[in-house]
Amino acid sequence: MTDRRLTIHEAGKLLKDKQISSVELTRATLERIEQVEPKVHACVTVAGERAMQQAEKADGLLAAGNGHPLTGIPVFIKDNMCTRGILTTCSSRMLENFIPPYDAFVVERLNNCGAVTVGKTNLDEFAMGSSTENSALFTTANPWDLSRVPGGSSGGSAAAVAAGEAVYALGSDTGGSIRQPAGFCGVTGLKPTYGRVSRYGLVAFASSLDQIGPLTQDATDCALVMNTIAGHDPRDSTSAPYPTPDYTQCINGDLKGLKIGIPKEYFVEGMQKEVAAAIRAAIGQLEQLGAGVDWEVSLPSTPYALAVYYIIAPSEASANLARYDGVKYGFSYADTDNMWEALEKTRQHGFGAEVKRRIMLGTYALSAGYYDAYYLKAQKVRTLIRQEFDRAFEKYDALLTPTSPTVPFKIGEKTDDPLQMYLSDVCTLPINIAGVPAISIPAGFADGLPVGMQIIGKPFGEETILKVAHAYQQSTDWHKRKPEI
Ligand code: GLN
Repeated sequence: MTDRRLTIHEAGKLLKDKQISSVELTRATLERIEQVEPKVHACVTVAGERAMQQAEKADGLLAAGNGHPLTGIPVFIKDNMCTRGILTTCSSRMLENFIPPYDAFVVERLNNCGAVTVGKTNLDEFAMGSSTENSALFTTANPWDLSRVPGGSSGGSAAAVAAGEAVYALGSDTGGSIRQPAGFCGVTGLKPTYGRVSRYGLVAFASSLDQIGPLTQDATDCALVMNTIAGHDPRDSTSAPYPTPDYTQCINGDLKGLKIGIPKEYFVEGMQKEVAAAIRAAIGQLEQLGAGVDWEVSLPSTPYALAVYYIIAPSEASANLARYDGVKYGFSYADTDNMWEALEKTRQHGFGAEVKRRIMLGTYALSAGYYDAYYLKAQKVRTLIRQEFDRAFEKYDALLTPTSPTVPFKIGEKTDDPLQMYLSDVCTLPINIAGVPAISIPAGFADGLPVGMQIIGKPFGEETILKVAHAYQQSTDWHKRKPEI
């Protein structure tokens, strides 16, 4: 039984009807991991034994009629979410040996419903990057073309789902880290509204931007995962105290009367022609499905989003990463009795180049004398960007853009040019700055590689974007295509 291509809803049905057991499904998943992992390198840790134990327990729950839609189904978790008793490295030397004593909120939720955690996935160190090349451990390959990047920072999660190493995965998204790799690997990835999913137990990168979300094979699966991980958590002070809708209830229905805006600033200079063409065709498809499309929308502050992000995110990162001092966490440089030298060497050897670059950028932007010129200014522009989204959503139910300006690039192509790397997130960064939700879904191919389409919603408007995504997926089969490996 190698049903590696099962979605959550398909696997759930088979489990419920007793056509398969979770033990069988988990064993097949572990075999698949063993088979493709030497090529894809998506996983930092495979927790096989523990997964089999969880599967047995899940079969017990199912037999007793206590199943939940996620019971018994294998999931991968990005290695920046704390898992009790399982290594959580953030793909950093700094946390290479860190075994958390507690579970993140989302992990707790998954455990409570009998999900099977097969392991932890690779990422750019501390989620800083767009290709997994900043991982201090290894680079993950794109299952569609092993010489290319899977995107990042949740590249391990996206590649694992695309390669059939798990039915779904969790990722985190600070500036595009769920959506961009989802687009690059041809899977569906949702970044929820800021505050919709608790960040408790997510290793902080930029706290005002970070959000956890699902990477799945279709919109229905995203809705199922959201039903489990969304909701209020008093341990995260930014967690929204709103009731969680049943996301699976709202995804059906046609798109008649729905107004979709296409912000022209997102068809940026330098965008690959074939990518723009695929997105235009996908928009045409949505029109066929009854949506009203306005091509003349403008969000004029969009070009400033990149600069705003690369001031705010590093500033917050520089504060968040101050805790890695060799005393409280992880790696510690021990070859000296001098405290200052120990601190300096710990950070020098524990962090990779990109993390150090971000800490320096952030420390600079926050320093006396530059705070007003950079940090404060960036916060003001952030407000303008958010207001533009608010105004657009007075008129439109959703906005639509490409997820990335290009198809996945070659491994090594952009590593020497951080600015080029930063540009691969131009379409996703503004969404985190505004705090609104967005989903990336497969919308075609260019040069044989997947193209992602981004659907952006109002704050707490996940239902609408899931509905648009679902309607599109009901009438196309891009999301069903899988790479051969
Ligand atoms: N690529 C962006 C960065 O490097 C976004 C990363 C993310 O969303 N975690 O910061």
